[in-house]
Amino acid sequence: SILHRASFFTSAAKLHQLPPPSVPEVCFVGRSNAGKSSAINVLANQKRLAFSSKTPGRTRLINMFGLPDPLDSEHPLGFLVDLPGYGYASVARDAREEWADVLGAYLRERTSLAGIVLLVDIRRGVTDLDRRLANWIAPTGKPVLVLLTKADKLPYGQRLKAVAAVRKDLADIGALNAIPFSATHRIGLEEADLKITNWISP
Ligand code: GDP
Repeated sequence: SILHRASFFTSAAKLHQLPPPSVPEVCFVGRSNAGKSSAINVLANQKRLAFSSKTPGRTRLINMFGLPDPLDSEHPLGFLVDLPGYGYASVARDAREEWADVLGAYLRERTSLAGIVLLVDIRRGVTDLDRRLANWIAPTGKPVLVLLTKADKLPYGQRLKAVAAVRKDLADIGALNAIPFSATHRIGLEEADLKITNWISP
């Protein structure tokens, strides 16, 4: 997979610090602890590309990973963009609102955004904060892949129920796909890889 070639490109605290939109990018968003960094790392087949929200430091930033073009080493083919996790209880209200601004602005304004990967813990389902994010996502019209993370923790039948619940909760998002996913058990990995790869280079 081209995702295996991902490498750190740049970090930014503010939207205007990102490189100008050029090649297609796929962003990853989700509540802190939803399993976002584990998903990115297994998709990239690397141990420590993205950092867990439990790691202090880099996780408040927008982290961009470049996907090299095998035919043109100078220019990336696309980017994976790790957006800051939200909903961490210990974070002050002002900081939370600032993240909301960054996330909202990124989703509204980033013209190179080709698709959105939303991480949702399969046992929690769509929370109020996820729903708030969905209100910014829906009007963009961008395709969304919901990864229902930690699917290994539920038996098969309950995974399907969780998928159906998410489809219902996010029915206002036009191009929505939701699948059970597990970083540890590699559930849904191939399907997620195909989808993301196809957004980057159709
Ligand atoms: P992030 O904060 O969204 O980046 O979440 P992390 O990737 O750091 O994961 C949060 C916690 O969930 C960690 O303790 C992980 O070990 C655990 N976790 C992540 N993915 C899975 C998974 O697929 N299965 C299980 N059982 N646990 C997972």
